[in-house]
Amino acid sequence: RAKELGKNNCQFYTREMNASIEEKLVLLEGLRSALDDGQFRLVYQPKVDLHTGRVFGVEALVRWDHPEHGVIGPDRFIPLAEESGMIVALGDWVLRSACAQNRAWQDAGIAPLRISVNVSPRQFEDPQLVQRVQRALDDSGLAPEWLELEVTEGVIMRDLQQAVAKMAEVRAMGVSLSIDDFGTGYSSLSALKSFPISTLKIDKSFVRDLGRSSGDEAIASSIIGLAHRLKLRVIAEGVETEQQRSFLRENGCDEMQGYLFSRPLPPQQLAALLTTGSAPRSLPAAA
Ligand code: C2E
Ligand code: MG
Ligand code: MG
Ligand code: MG
Repeated sequence: RAKELGKNNCQFYTREMNASIEEKLVLLEGLRSALDDGQFRLVYQPKVDLHTGRVFGVEALVRWDHPEHGVIGPDRFIPLAEESGMIVALGDWVLRSACAQNRAWQDAGIAPLRISVNVSPRQFEDPQLVQRVQRALDDSGLAPEWLELEVTEGVIMRDLQQAVAKMAEVRAMGVSLSIDDFGTGYSSLSALKSFPISTLKIDKSFVRDLGRSSGDEAIASSIIGLAHRLKLRVIAEGVETEQQRSFLRENGCDEMQGYLFSRPLPPQQLAALLTTGSAPRSLPAAA
């Protein structure tokens, strides 16, 4: 392919490729020890009920404090962790840390929240996933109703029958499931009805242009309608503007998550937001 593009393009292409391969190798090398060295941490983004404005849950999102490169976001290392198989150990750490943190908030007297943990394909396919979830619950003392797993359509469609069986096992433990980034994957509508899930999450790519693109508005309102017809709840991710929020509320969306309400926060800041958040949010700063 590169050859067809001619000599100059070919050199350019190769240089770009080397740069990204080099970055990959550096990060991959570091990934192996990062877990033992305690370089990962979780931040938590509130999920808000669109009708009451109440925070009912949080999504745990992993960050890597790299000793040389600073904070690295998951889009840059989760794919590497997937490819290398490291995701199983990292995912287990995320699951255990999220459950322990949620239990710690409850013990501190904060009104119980549901914590959502992202599970990527290799983690979901791990034959020990169900035991790992059970162990994270047992060791933290968190009741299963306060845990949710977010999986993408791609995870499920790899092996539909097996995935549905595994989802059913998770559901039977009392843990909820949601479909993340809904609308960007390949799940068929007929498959959707067999998933033992409780929530569909509208991908942020459809949320971004609400109020500007009639196409995205049609997609978002169709997903909301579909979810409700299937007796599922529906949440929108990536909500940044008041305009997006009003569109979602007027079109019956149940929940939202995004910078408009809050960025993902370290645990102490999240706790502070929840404890001071009981005061009216419109209160003047001086009050
Ligand atoms: P996701 O699960 O779809 O998470 C939503 C992403 O959108 C997060 O990015 C979040 O910080 C970002 N976000 C939230 N609100 C807004 C907003 O208003 N505007 C915009 N533009 N973005 C917003 P983040 O934290 O960089 O995570 C990216 C992806 O990495 C996640 O997408 C998830 O697929 C993956 N990921 C994150 N943490 C974990 C983890 O612990 N395990 C696994 N397996 N995957 C993870
Ligand atoms: Mg997610
Ligand atoms: Mg998402
Ligand atoms: Mg995403």
